[in-house]
Amino acid sequence: MGIDKDPESSLQQLRLLNQVAKDITSTLGLRPRLGFVCQSIIDIMGVKGVSIRLLDQKTNRLELAFASGLSEEYIHKGPVDADKSLAKALEGAPHFVLDASTDPGIQYPEEACREGLVSVLSLPLKGREKVIGTLRLYTGERRPFTRDEIDFLSALAAQGAISLENARNYEVLEKQDKAKNDFIMMMTHELKAPMMAVQGLLEVMQKGYVGVLTEKQKELIGRIYRRIDSLMEVSTNLLDIYEWQTKRPDTRSISLSMNEQIQKAVDLFKTSALEKGLTMDVDLPDQDLIVMGSEDEIEKILNNLITNAIKYTPKGGNISLALSASGGNVFFIIKDTGIGLNDQDISKVFDDFFRSKEAKRIDPYGKGLGLPFVKQIVEGLGGTIRVKSEEGKGSEFLLVFPKPG
Ligand code: ADP
Repeated sequence: MGIDKDPESSLQQLRLLNQVAKDITSTLGLRPRLGFVCQSIIDIMGVKGVSIRLLDQKTNRLELAFASGLSEEYIHKGPVDADKSLAKALEGAPHFVLDASTDPGIQYPEEACREGLVSVLSLPLKGREKVIGTLRLYTGERRPFTRDEIDFLSALAAQGAISLENARNYEVLEKQDKAKNDFIMMMTHELKAPMMAVQGLLEVMQKGYVGVLTEKQKELIGRIYRRIDSLMEVSTNLLDIYEWQTKRPDTRSISLSMNEQIQKAVDLFKTSALEKGLTMDVDLPDQDLIVMGSEDEIEKILNNLITNAIKYTPKGGNISLALSASGGNVFFIIKDTGIGLNDQDISKVFDDFFRSKEAKRIDPYGKGLGLPFVKQIVEGLGGTIRVKSEEGKGSEFLLVFPKPG
């Protein structure tokens, strides 16, 4: 059953190698792709089963990463010790066993027999520095492998090993990143209680319950109070973002009328716009335009953008909101005639903590966390957000959401 001269098999081999090569730079969803690789090997090589095991350095055991064509009973027959089984492959060279029932290198010969496995080819998965596991092929009959077959499988194992190593490193980094974020959020949460307590004590002092204060003392206490308020706001913003990232609602089945959400947000903010001397135009289509997302998420997006437009548009200006649909998308545009942004600042506007010079002058207490959060939510809903702006003239934020299918 050689594969070396069959052009169709050669093509399949090349395709598989190409696919695995592409996986090297990919970080997510490795398991389904391992399934694809194992099944492809079975199809191309005409073998009974394939397994991929990764070496656990601490226990010196080979842990199953994926298997195809093998029964659950066989896969979970017992721990696979690195120095009893697959020792040869772990030294770095392919190892072939013609008959698993009699070869001393097979740790579970009886189980292999019961499973109907006869010949076994083990290939090392060589990472950048050391062997990280093995790729194993099992046949249902005595069957040697040709040189070409072994060369093909070795090339596949070499590329697959790098993908697996990358994925493992990525997982470790992800875990570390999560642990770091969890710690920061726990600290942020813990800091809120003493900050509130300090504010309470300041209020007691300011109200004169512990003695009459001079005007200067009152002013200083007021300043301390506002500083703490500002810290509390950062903490609340950070905790909001963290909560959304870690407990994101599954919004694939929640559809909302964007018209209603916009109207609700406009009703909420129209008084503050009026009070600031701004006009507000709202252009909503007659027909309801639906997007996928939770009410909380859409509310956060709209409230943030409208608050910014009001905050960064001087008296006498205008804010306009428009909703429309085209092709498979829903478009929302919010435009203002406010302070705008210069070309350099436009590219930073979605960065954490970014604030333009003019914005800081208008509102010294802003945090620069609203827009990055809005962007994360929009993208989480499968949408995009872009900004066009001219310094001193105004800004326009364009949001595109996919229409539910
Ligand atoms: P904050 O308003 O607290 O500063 P945001 O993340 O909402 O935080 O906004 C970040 C920065 O983006 C603002 O400080 C401002 O420089 C700029 N920005 C946001 N919206 C507008 C707008 N409508 N017009 C001009 N600049 C804006």
